[in-house]
Amino acid sequence: MKTFRIGGVHPAENKLSAACPIKKAALPKQAVFSLYQHIGAPAKPVVAKGDEVKVGTMLADADGFVSAPVFSSVSGKVAKIDAIVDASGYRRPAIFVDVEGDVWEDSIDRSETLVTLKDRPELTAQDIVAKVKAAGVVGMGGATFPCHVKLSPPPGSKAECVVINGVECEPYLTADHRLMLEKPDEILVGVALIMKAVQVSKAYIGIENNKPDAIKLMTEKAAAYPGIEIVPLQVKYPQGGEKQLVQAITGREVPAPPAIPIQVGAVVQNVGTAYAIYEAVMKNKPLLERVITVTGKSVKQPTNFLARIGTPMSQLIEECGGLPEDTGKVIGGGPMMGKALMNLDVPVCKGSSGLLIMNNKEARRGEIQPCIRCAKCVSACPMGLEPYLLATGSALKNWELVEENDITSCIECGSCQFTCPSNRPMLDNIRMGKSTVMAMIRARNAKK
Ligand code: SF4
Ligand code: SF4
Repeated sequence: MKTFRIGGVHPAENKLSAACPIKKAALPKQAVFSLYQHIGAPAKPVVAKGDEVKVGTMLADADGFVSAPVFSSVSGKVAKIDAIVDASGYRRPAIFVDVEGDVWEDSIDRSETLVTLKDRPELTAQDIVAKVKAAGVVGMGGATFPCHVKLSPPPGSKAECVVINGVECEPYLTADHRLMLEKPDEILVGVALIMKAVQVSKAYIGIENNKPDAIKLMTEKAAAYPGIEIVPLQVKYPQGGEKQLVQAITGREVPAPPAIPIQVGAVVQNVGTAYAIYEAVMKNKPLLERVITVTGKSVKQPTNFLARIGTPMSQLIEECGGLPEDTGKVIGGGPMMGKALMNLDVPVCKGSSGLLIMNNKEARRGEIQPCIRCAKCVSACPMGLEPYLLATGSALKNWELVEENDITSCIECGSCQFTCPSNRPMLDNIRMGKSTVMAMIRARNAKK
């Protein structure tokens, strides 16, 4: 069975909510919409305090090509435009909407009727990209890169295949798994739309073999969609990384940054994004809700929610039975790549795939010991880097050293830290070093 070639680790899966069907989360009393829910320029508000909005009304428009509009997921009145500390830990501008009723824009098709490409033969590649852009769809696996940009290969590059990430290799998270079980046709139509947008005839959906039910169902369903192949993959973290997935499925090697998968002919999207593309193009529905896993060993009822964007995380925790008494840490995302939340009122945003409540025992980090030069971190690194060197160089602020040793290739997967017997806080240091070096590179390029 296929997998990527170098590095990788096998953390305990802990997929506690895998059997839990997707449940609609309750409407919040107030929804909060960060203007920074995507990579690129923040969205620009187009509403003002006191404006009435419906579900699907645009709140803020894209501000440039690499940007995405933000839509209201609730109906009610704009209470204020202010700032919040979001899941990234930064203070960001945001629009607050007080919820009244649940009135949707008439343009959105809310029926469950499946619409396929056969029903819409007139759709062109340009139509699909334009609708995806207008609906504010971004990468739903956590990367939040505006989707229309990836669907518009840059001059000189040609898409040859679409690679869809159904891997969900982060421990605990089950949102994509449930989506594949509950919305397989919608995902497959979304994949067919991506294929049409980038004009290729082949797509692969990679699913790790710890989800045999999803592999079986998607394989059965895919038979009706020409050119779409389901590829079972060995379980190995971080197989959901773009480069790892492209290599596992196609055998092609994406070169070091700034190279991206399109340079080897691959357009990579996540299954959640394929579903959002289906809704945007076939249902005229902007990205205003998403599936998010709320889980943890002490959580009474780990749940996969379909939550409106802007819903406070604290509300989802209450719906799972409340914050456990032995909570040590709450992580936005999964345990490997997620970040600890500063407060529980941060709202669900487009990139929120999960919320992990770690108990005291799990949250406790082992005592940091000196590096014993065992090289386990080197063997685990899927990017072929020397993590001990990058972590130490970053801690010592030796930016020249870490840049020379390719810190910008780090995908922040945390495999090095996971494997380190000395409990070195490698990911924290490497993340800090990588963001500093990237800022230096941007500044250098700006001067050219
Ligand atoms: S976090 Fe970076 S350095 Fe560490 S294993 Fe992952 S890619 Fe390698
Ligand atoms: S795994 Fe930890 S102890 Fe081993 S070489 Fe890497 S940093 Fe040092």
